[in-house]
Amino acid sequence: MSTIIYPSPIFGPIHSRRLGVSLGINLLPADGKCCTFDCIYCECGYNKDHRPHAKLPTREEVYNALERRLINMQANGPAPDVLTFAGNGEPTLHPHFKEIIEDTITLRNRYFPNARISVLSNSTQIHCPEVFEALCRVDNNILKLDTVDTAYINKVDRPAGSYDVNRIIEGMKAFQGNLIIQTMFLKGKTDEGKDVDNTSDVFVLPWLEVVKAIAPRQVMIYTIDRETPDSFLQKATHEELDRIVTLLEQAGLRASASY
Ligand code: SF4
Repeated sequence: MSTIIYPSPIFGPIHSRRLGVSLGINLLPADGKCCTFDCIYCECGYNKDHRPHAKLPTREEVYNALERRLINMQANGPAPDVLTFAGNGEPTLHPHFKEIIEDTITLRNRYFPNARISVLSNSTQIHCPEVFEALCRVDNNILKLDTVDTAYINKVDRPAGSYDVNRIIEGMKAFQGNLIIQTMFLKGKTDEGKDVDNTSDVFVLPWLEVVKAIAPRQVMIYTIDRETPDSFLQKATHEELDRIVTLLEQAGLRASASY
């Protein structure tokens, strides 16, 4: 099994299916993974197999590393389309997430004012006022909502600690449309043989009703693209993803699929 642990605090640029030329900002340690979920499809692997020993990068380390890389990209290319907070887990767990977002806006405006700032988050910290305020400041506030079925969340996303999907949904509504919902669709089975297909109407229709109520400015659906820690997971097909995009568009939502 080959999972990916990213360098910290800056990695890439990589070409993202969804975001273009993306310079990664990883606010987690370089030697492991920190997340409030433990998704069976996580490209970083299971939490238990990648407990970090190193410290989180400091605000100053992130600022300096990001500025160095942006200066280098200005001199040598490529120009980034997007500065993306992602990497080894949940970026909003960093205690200085809000300040780092402010720093990133400053550096983006100085070196690549046309670049967008994206945050990929699992949504578990959106009730924290500082996280909420920071996410309101970025161009692409991309929040995970794989399903609204609690049993499925516990089987596939596997939250650490308490998780109330209705509270997450209310937290998403508070962004008043200034969010992009990101949803993973997949098929196959867990390593214990439990079915994980969330492409049927049993899962899609209740999720669709909630997404309509949240009214995000966009919905990005996708499927697994790399090796996953659970080895019997399967990709959703193009046809299945296209069907869900059509349902979203018929509901008046802007939607895209990554295959
Ligand atoms: S939320 Fe993202 S980083 Fe966290 S376990 Fe799931 S896929 Fe991995």
